[in-house]
Amino acid sequence: MSEAKEVVEISKADPEVVSRIKNLSKTVPIVDTHNDFPYLLRGQLHYEFSSNGDFDFNHTTAHTDLTRLKEGGVGIQFFSCFIECQNEDRYSQDFNVPNSAVRDTLEQIDSVKRLCADYEIAVVSNSEDALKAFNEGKFVVTMGIEGLHQVDISLSVLRLYYELGVRYATLTHNGDNPFATSVSSVTGGLEDKGLSKFGVECVAEMNRLGMIVDISHVSDKTMKDTLKATKAPVMFSHSSCYGVTPHPRNVSDEVLLLLKKNSGVICINFYNPFITQSESGEATIEDAADHIAHAINLVGWDYVGLGSDFDGCSSVPVGLEDVSKYPELIAKVLERTNGTDEDVAKLMGGNVMRVWKASEVVAASLSSQQPNEANWEDRDWYVLGYGYPELFPGALQLKETKFRPTMSWEFL
Ligand SMILES: [Zn+2]
Repeated sequence: MSEAKEVVEISKADPEVVSRIKNLSKTVPIVDTHNDFPYLLRGQLHYEFSSNGDFDFNHTTAHTDLTRLKEGGVGIQFFSCFIECQNEDRYSQDFNVPNSAVRDTLEQIDSVKRLCADYEIAVVSNSEDALKAFNEGKFVVTMGIEGLHQVDISLSVLRLYYELGVRYATLTHNGDNPFATSVSSVTGGLEDKGLSKFGVECVAEMNRLGMIVDISHVSDKTMKDTLKATKAPVMFSHSSCYGVTPHPRNVSDEVLLLLKKNSGVICINFYNPFITQSESGEATIEDAADHIAHAINLVGWDYVGLGSDFDGCSSVPVGLEDVSKYPELIAKVLERTNGTDEDVAKLMGGNVMRVWKASEVVAASLSSQQPNEANWEDRDWYVLGYGYPELFPGALQLKETKFRPTMSWEFL
């Protein structure tokens, strides 16, 4: 028995408004803070894209390619260098379990840099360079990581990701880590412990570095704890509004008001289940526009941006199928709000750039601070055998360190 697929009708956005947005995007970049395209390179090509004759970033059948990014007026793209939590027990609280998240994240970062080199895309590491490259007519990319499981319990790894050009870190993905509680764990029945003591240290270190603190995916308490702990404005890189669609991944009005106090930004996610409660599960561009308009109506134009989740999600709204559709989406937002060009420019990317810049200013103000040497207190530390010289009298007794069996010393 075949079922007729429901056809969702949407009205076209006003072409005049669409061309107004497209014109504006020539001088003001549209900035999207969450696109998972690099993950497709991992799963489908094992990163062998330069040598693959069928792969062409100018034209893909995914949500993202250069032709449609250009059509959509996207000027600056944050690519998510996402790697999932690798513990088979998704609610496991044993964070000492060995995993390859760091290797796999490094491969994601490497793939972004190589892809950008292949296609003459500017990879930038600060907000000023991003705008400069955009003004020179280049397509601009920077990076984020999606969950602190990707630093594998080590602030050293966080610092080195920063050196490699990662400019935001989401505190969790769909599982807890030593830093923070994720919303998925809470909906799975675990306690909402919020930001841990080590998480507070990590937020301080992110502030010192100028790494934007991203609180998408985290629990309600983690959001509130982070907003208290951070010295810099935070970002929701890809979250929508609970006030429109009560999905646990979305952000409550209460937290949106706290975000306004923090001068942060919420970049709205387009993934169907986050933006609609329709029976079919099908969403449209209207639903995405409703979420953006809701945030604007609640907190104003200064704290809202775009964080599509393109190429990281399995369903996208009708009318908002790929990266070419941002002007149509913004035109739909303007059907719901009275925005000036100045307001629209903030939504397009001005707010994200302001938050990025503010992170850099906070980092500059903390530049006399030393790197944070805090460790997670429950970490297992291992060293080989015994017999190494002592650093100073008593040093061998200072820390609880476990020993691996020694190998034969004749190969020293
Ligand atoms: Zn996500």
